[in-house]
Amino acid sequence: MISIRKITREKAVEEAQREFITHIAHELKTPLTSIKSYSEMLMDGDIDDPEMKKEFYNTINAEADRLTALIQNTLSISRIEMGGLALNKGLVKTDWLAEDSLAAVETSARKKHHILEKNFPEVFPNLVGDKELLRVAIINFLSNAVKYTPENGKITFSLIDLNDMVVFEVSDTGLGISEDDLPHIFKRSFRSSDPQIRDQSGSGLGLAIASEIIHLHGGEVEVESRPGEGTHFLIRFPKEDYYIGKQ
Ligand code: ADP
Repeated sequence: MISIRKITREKAVEEAQREFITHIAHELKTPLTSIKSYSEMLMDGDIDDPEMKKEFYNTINAEADRLTALIQNTLSISRIEMGGLALNKGLVKTDWLAEDSLAAVETSARKKHHILEKNFPEVFPNLVGDKELLRVAIINFLSNAVKYTPENGKITFSLIDLNDMVVFEVSDTGLGISEDDLPHIFKRSFRSSDPQIRDQSGSGLGLAIASEIIHLHGGEVEVESRPGEGTHFLIRFPKEDYYIGKQ
């Protein structure tokens, strides 16, 4: 009985992995198809209008960014799954983490005329963790805020240093999340069926990977949202002592 159950479970895992690979391949194909067709039109010399040319280059650039984000998330997932719980831990300076994550979304926020407000402490605390994975997690919250907030909205990014915790807050004045969708947003491949959300490109992996990374660091994430008004994510990380060498 035990071995049958084990085989059934292995089959289910294999099936989930197959589905995941199909999903990723499909997600990679969409931006590549559009990069290829826009660049072909430009190369054929069919486009004379300079404004239109500019728009085509912008689309190619945005699609390349989309590919980079997807590959980054896929690599993080495979690193976590293959490496088990082995994080590449070190001292993480949160000024670097916050500024670098913000820099990754600044161009797209500017294009949408968003106000990007930051509330940072005078003295930044340190965290112990895997800096590349932490950066992937924070960028996913920020890029969602930009993606799902219509033009002229406001994104607020705060870092709060508490006694035993470092808290990141990402708030937006965007589309919000419905009560029906809210329990599912951290599941792999979940995307809302709301056409306004579907209008934005996405793979449904961002929040799943972000929450995995946060939990691997002993942290927690909470979300509050009002459809039509905006969304607020609260991410808490415990402060840990970091000793170099043996004590
Ligand atoms: P993706 O953005 O690629 O669809 P995510 O895993 O990052 O995937 O997010 C899952 C879903 O959660 C999104 O499709 C969207 O429905 C919802 N969501 C996440 N962040 C926000 C936000 N800031 N505002 C509105 N909806 C959001």
